[in-house]
Amino acid sequence: MTKRIGVHLGTTGGVSNSIERAHEIGANTLQIFSASPRMWRITKADPKQAVRTRELRANFDVGPLVIHTSYLVNVCSQSEEVREKSVAAFRGEIERALALGGEYLVLHPGSWRGLTREEGLKLAADSIERAIDGLPWQSTPFHILIENTAGAEFSLGGSFEQVAELVSRLKSHAPVAVCLDTCHTHVAGYDLVSAEGYEQTIKLAASTIGLETVRVWHMNDAKAARGSKLDRHEQIGKGTMGLEPFRRLLNDSRFAHCAFVAETPVEEPADELRSVQVLQSLVQ
Ligand SMILES: [Zn+2]
Ligand SMILES: [Zn+2]
Repeated sequence: MTKRIGVHLGTTGGVSNSIERAHEIGANTLQIFSASPRMWRITKADPKQAVRTRELRANFDVGPLVIHTSYLVNVCSQSEEVREKSVAAFRGEIERALALGGEYLVLHPGSWRGLTREEGLKLAADSIERAIDGLPWQSTPFHILIENTAGAEFSLGGSFEQVAELVSRLKSHAPVAVCLDTCHTHVAGYDLVSAEGYEQTIKLAASTIGLETVRVWHMNDAKAARGSKLDRHEQIGKGTMGLEPFRRLLNDSRFAHCAFVAETPVEEPADELRSVQVLQSLVQ
């Protein structure tokens, strides 16, 4: 199967274990955290793990490797202290991604609470530019992916237009593209569920972000209603979205270049396998 389908996996015992795990559950792409997502401490990638990760990926044909940035990072925070810590932590994220050979580093654009949206947008662009300044990404496939958010108050990236605006400000300074999350898109108010709504939503994404710029789809059903702005992921097919949007996306030739990665709740290890199998079963 050439379609790239996977799931977010843990890295206990080393990043290379997650590649083995992906292969074990039949996934040919995956997402990981390259460090604890709830700690500011900046770590380096283990060189032995980096070698092993590349070897296993080549053996098993697993890729792209998607890395999700720590939840603490807020590149448009009103607090200079938080912003400086975020720039340093995000630089560490980029360095680890480059060391591991990760293609994509997903970033939530952050919260501009206490500022104006325009100020937030400017700070986000400046911070990202500073974080990557001087790092050797040029001869690699590495891209920072700006992820659309659920549209909560003060959160940057709750609309396609905002995501597109940030990408266009960064384009000439950094390798940037986009990750769209189905749950975030749905709870932000876009219709992916009805056939006509899906077409309109994708047309809007095309005219703002550009579909070639979308590299990863986070495949998550939603616990909350469309437009609720509540970001609660649900197992694919068991939430307010149902299976159809996922079937459409997986079979939409305009997204043939994309990787599809579930970030659905894992109550037991078998849930990871189940998410991959559900997505694979929707490919026609
Ligand atoms: Zn996501
Ligand atoms: Zn989410």
